[in-house]
Amino acid sequence: MTATTTTLTGIPFNRPYLCGLEREYVGEAIGLGALSGDGPFTARATGLLARLVDAPEALLATSCTHALEMAAILLDLRPGDEVIMPSFTFVSTANAFALRGAVPVFADCRPDTLNLDERLIEDAITSRTRAIVVVHYGGVACEMSEITAIAARHGLTVIEDNAHGLGGSYHGRPLGSLGALATQSFHVTKNVQCGEGGALIFNDLSWFSRAEIIREKGTNRSQFFRGMVDKYRWIDVGSSYLPADLLAAFLTAQLEAFDDIQRRRHAIWSAYDTRLATWAASIGVQRPVVPAGRDHPAHLYQLLMRDLTDRQEFIRHLGHRGIQATFHYQPLHAAPAGRRYGRTAPAGCPVTDDIADRLVRLPLFAGMTATELDQVIDAVTAYRPGNHEL
Ligand SMILES: *Cc1c(COP(=O)(O)O)cnc(C)c1O
Repeated sequence: MTATTTTLTGIPFNRPYLCGLEREYVGEAIGLGALSGDGPFTARATGLLARLVDAPEALLATSCTHALEMAAILLDLRPGDEVIMPSFTFVSTANAFALRGAVPVFADCRPDTLNLDERLIEDAITSRTRAIVVVHYGGVACEMSEITAIAARHGLTVIEDNAHGLGGSYHGRPLGSLGALATQSFHVTKNVQCGEGGALIFNDLSWFSRAEIIREKGTNRSQFFRGMVDKYRWIDVGSSYLPADLLAAFLTAQLEAFDDIQRRRHAIWSAYDTRLATWAASIGVQRPVVPAGRDHPAHLYQLLMRDLTDRQEFIRHLGHRGIQATFHYQPLHAAPAGRRYGRTAPAGCPVTDDIADRLVRLPLFAGMTATELDQVIDAVTAYRPGNHEL
């Protein structure tokens, strides 16, 4: 019965997982009447997040996109300043800097972890370079020792777009604690979510007081509420980057259930990795690569198929069995806005072009049942390239 129902409704790529206390906390926030930003639940969620990332300060934001925009404002970028980043990332990583008139410089990724290739960074640096933005793909850490050393040599700021990485670590250090600034996403597709949400993490506290102003429409309202000034005024540029406390209430429930969410996601990730290994090896499919010294947070389970045709055939094969698998980032260096606002690093991005066409992500969400997991694994292992029965 259950299996039949599941087959009929299908297995989505993502199904939002509720931990149980979301309704209670949102109800509590409504009861308190503190509905706008920086209420009691914002303080609670911020504390939980800062502890998870082991960062001295954090500010909740309306999205990771907005947290990246705040980071770009904090850097005081001038038109023409350059920011090195991977081409293989979400649009917002680049867009936030393009909005300031800065030039995203797109570098290629490593063929194993699909992270920014640290060996290509120095050739991409010019006299206008100001920052390096890293993205820990799937929450598998970039080569941070090398990257922070390059940044130090050239006086550049490292920013972690840690949208995938909450709960991951690099040689024992939490992801999000390795750059001067880091950004988190609580979009519905991320491990911990509140529909739409994000945060800016501070590992260098010298950015913090200005960030509070940027987040509050360019005013010193946060200081006013703490009784530090007797009226609040327009101090700097900024925008409205703080989430309603209603969303922070939802997020608090999710952050409190972090260990439960992660245990569930890791069980699915590990089942995929173990039970797909023989099949993958038999038809030349690459499974995720997690180098030594890295704990990942089971954010994605991606496979690299042989080529674009194989990947599309595989997605259709799963689709016919009611399973939604999806491709991922389209290379930014080749996107219309990437060409207009950015430039490509000297080595080009051949690996990015190649893997973007071959990559496919399997369904992975904390509420996935054992039946659903079996169904996905059965459907995947039934696939042979050029030999698909429909
Ligand atoms: C999801 C994601 C974002 C955007 O997050 P939002 O919270 O939706 O703005 C940015 N960068 C990366 C790498 C992401 O995966």
